[in-house]
Amino acid sequence: MAIARNELLDYLNQQLNVGRINDFCPNGLQVEGKENIQQIVTGVTASQALLDQAVSVGADAVLVHHGYFWKNEAAPVTGMKQRRIKTLLQHNINLLAYHLPLDVHAQFGNNAQLARLMGWSTQGTADPNDPACALMLGGCSEISSDGLKAQLEERLQRPLTCYVAKPGKLTRLAWCTGGGQGFIDKAAALGVDGFITGEVSEQTVHSAREQGIAFFAAGHHATERYGVKALGQHLQQQFDLQVQFIDIDNPA
Ligand SMILES: [Zn+2]
Repeated sequence: MAIARNELLDYLNQQLNVGRINDFCPNGLQVEGKENIQQIVTGVTASQALLDQAVSVGADAVLVHHGYFWKNEAAPVTGMKQRRIKTLLQHNINLLAYHLPLDVHAQFGNNAQLARLMGWSTQGTADPNDPACALMLGGCSEISSDGLKAQLEERLQRPLTCYVAKPGKLTRLAWCTGGGQGFIDKAAALGVDGFITGEVSEQTVHSAREQGIAFFAAGHHATERYGVKALGQHLQQQFDLQVQFIDIDNPA
């Protein structure tokens, strides 16, 4: 089956509450290609490697979490940016990107999907009045911080990039997939035992040690594989499309 691009976009924009979320990039159609879409490649980032794979499988659209045209990015279409956009235009491939809407969605969000993968319960976000709040709160069954580290490494299939242990057992958790390390002080103030995100900064480690909170940097890419993958699987069922998730590994 094929679907009209505009019908697919209307569906996605509505499902993902795009109109209610302020973001640092345009969400939805970023580069226009074919009018009808039958085959979709999903991935974390619209890198050249992902685009090349999309071309080789004959995709009509690429659906990603990290697209282009970020606030503060240089506007000229030159160099790496030119090559990526040229690849899409030459092959008439649509680029669909959803950033924050695909972090915070209750079902397809990266935060919700990480909780699902890890078996954590979710209690909503730190700010229920903000539709873009990406700091999730929830819990796990009693586990030591070493135990949670091992579990994260096993389920995400990669070593943590940074880890700060806390004595005793953890039950209350906060998490934000991707580059969410700036939320650590908010998480500590909310009284959680452990905070999980993708990346780490130098000051994150001091925040964790001095506020007695366990900290896990599990990889920006690794924690953000699951939202777009789940969304793609949903589209496959909903519209009878051919969808494949392609993981272009990234150690960061
Ligand atoms: Zn991200």
